[in-house]
Amino acid sequence: MLVDVGLSPRATSAQLSSVGVELADVSSMCLTHLDGDHFQTGWRKVIVERQIKVFCSELNRRHLLNRDNHPLAPLVRAVDFQAVEPLGGLCMTPIELRHDMEGSTGFRFDSAGESLGFATDLGRVPPVLIEAFTGVNMLAIESNYDVKMQLQSSRPNALKSRIMGGSGHLSNDECFAAVTRIFDRSQLRCGHVPSQIVLLHRSRQCNCPDLLRRQFERDPRFADRLTLAHQDQPTPWLRPVTRPTAPGEQLLLGWPTGAALR
Ligand SMILES: [Zn+2]
Repeated sequence: MLVDVGLSPRATSAQLSSVGVELADVSSMCLTHLDGDHFQTGWRKVIVERQIKVFCSELNRRHLLNRDNHPLAPLVRAVDFQAVEPLGGLCMTPIELRHDMEGSTGFRFDSAGESLGFATDLGRVPPVLIEAFTGVNMLAIESNYDVKMQLQSSRPNALKSRIMGGSGHLSNDECFAAVTRIFDRSQLRCGHVPSQIVLLHRSRQCNCPDLLRRQFERDPRFADRLTLAHQDQPTPWLRPVTRPTAPGEQLLLGWPTGAALR
């Protein structure tokens, strides 16, 4: 299953091959929204040819099926506000997010006791997202821009306002605050924290990987869990892992439940 297809089918296929997956292995995809960097239109043909099931919001379903009897119609399913099972044994819960005029959708995936929270292109972090991602094993979330770099960039003011105005993208500071809250709540409520943090959708112009790493490494819980996703190269395979608790975690883990101290 793919989450978003902003690269062409050919480019996606090449990147999948480099990590041992073929396009023929893909039976379904879910879409956060339909901006060009999340849904490349070349996929319309491939979806029909390969009979790939698509999960997205009702609004985006209507955009995809822009005429009656569209060949995509039997393949696209709207998933607003309801958990669905896109693959056997995989539960996907959508979360409505603010982004530009039409919003985007975050997802929590649960399968066989493991879970992933995935959210990109969100203007702000609503409480429902923190709640949904509390207790996940893996966290993938947008960290789009550094505020200072954004303000000092040569971008038009209107674009800066769109990005920073609460319906655009998450800054590094906002992402850091959200990850901190998710970790704190996960420790308190579940006794464990995500074993992986993947930072998505980093701006090339208004972000800096070294700056971002330094910011996240201020919290010792994040330092060895961090992966920065790239636009043009795949990350290695990431799996939820059980780790010994880091210094400082054990106390926090043990304090709310007691059970983790044993
Ligand atoms: Zn985007």
